[in-house]
Amino acid sequence: MSEKHTITALATPVGESAVALVRVSGALVPQIMQEIFGRKSLPKPRQAYLGNYRNLENVVLDQALYTYFEKDGSFTGDSTLEIACHGNPLIAKKILDDLQARGCRPAEPGEFTRTAFLNQRMDLSQAEAVMELIQAKSEKALAVAQRHLRGGLGENIRTIKEPLIRLCAHLEAYIDFPEEDLPEENQEGPKRELRKILNSIGRLIETNRYHEALSQGVRLAILGAPNAGKSSLLNAILNKERAIVSDTPGTTRDFIAERITFGGLDLEIIDTAGIRDGGSEIERIGMEHSLKVAENADFYILVIDTTENPPDLPKNLIEKLTPANCLIAENKIDLQESKNFTEYIPKLSRKRISALCGKGLDELKAGLQEKLEALIELPDEETVVINTRHRILLEEGQKHLIEGQKHLAKDGPAELAAIDLRVALEKISSITGTVDTEEVLDEIFSSFCIGK
Ligand code: GDP
Repeated sequence: MSEKHTITALATPVGESAVALVRVSGALVPQIMQEIFGRKSLPKPRQAYLGNYRNLENVVLDQALYTYFEKDGSFTGDSTLEIACHGNPLIAKKILDDLQARGCRPAEPGEFTRTAFLNQRMDLSQAEAVMELIQAKSEKALAVAQRHLRGGLGENIRTIKEPLIRLCAHLEAYIDFPEEDLPEENQEGPKRELRKILNSIGRLIETNRYHEALSQGVRLAILGAPNAGKSSLLNAILNKERAIVSDTPGTTRDFIAERITFGGLDLEIIDTAGIRDGGSEIERIGMEHSLKVAENADFYILVIDTTENPPDLPKNLIEKLTPANCLIAENKIDLQESKNFTEYIPKLSRKRISALCGKGLDELKAGLQEKLEALIELPDEETVVINTRHRILLEEGQKHLIEGQKHLAKDGPAELAAIDLRVALEKISSITGTVDTEEVLDEIFSSFCIGK
């Protein structure tokens, strides 16, 4: 579709802003750019020019900065124009309407990046990395996406594909030229090579375990009885007034969720409604919600009011809490009546805090960081992290390679092993390129935003 149409879209979010960026990419760009900005020749590529945007009726829509990118020097691999206009959605809309009147088509989600892939400006894993980069919500996720964009995953795939191609060629040589003067069939070398390839695939598949924490973030639920200080703790962690703090039990009726970057992780903190026996109908509905949310959390902070009796939490909730996934925050230690709670769920580690005056908060955060690091393994600097699509393809490749390995082990005919190895090669190749169906591309690029 990129060959036929010149596409256009707003690359910045819709709404008022200092500047809005309209992108145009395709064969019409050189001509319409000259018409719009009244130029007699093409501007120097990659250089910003100030000009009046004139629509087809010769009305100036805005004074804008525009930059031209030649076919071979653009993101998409097609001639591209970027128009930085004033950030009023009306202006951007008028410009987009005019571009359509001039023959451009609104871009579909991810179409600029898809065009870049189809024009071989990047491999498929790099195209996916563009999206990862835009959506990354923590420093770790950002670092991994940047590595992918630089081609880190492609490099890893190449180190698997190249020996696999050599191996296929070796086995197929015996099939294609059985009568020729090839050395006697000895499969020891191929078997060794295949083991090495399978090891590399295994290591790469392993990295998928980091993917969820990086892409979805980590869910932390703050649990406890009403009035224990859960909302106060959320506010203290966020450093702002987000949750309503009140001394009336049952004021957080549902749950409040906030995202922060914590220790390089994208952390979603959920302040749940207090859990206790009884309460009003609305409060009970809130509690049920909270318990559901708690079920899907990765980590818990159980807040207890040390001036009260230990809370009576549902047994199934207590059973979920382990030293690895929960920290107790013994709250309100600033008060005279504060007691020690070492006997309460003794299996769990605890920190003594005052959410109100901030005492012990640093220790709680340090404890939280330590626990999260132990619970959610994070990749080191050099690791590439495969996504689910990559994992499925690698696992399919792995399955065929294991089949091939079995044929080789039996010293059976090279043909059978070669067929499996070929299929594996195709699967693995689909990670970075050569995708056989449009639907797969549609699926990958549909999660992109328009204008990317
Ligand atoms: P939640 O129902 O568990 O969310 O509890 P809140 O955060 O709304 O707090 C209930 C009451 O306890 C409020 O009046 C808070 O000001 C008070 N509170 C919370 N944490 C502390 C603390 O560390 N010390 C003292 N003295 N009061 C606190």
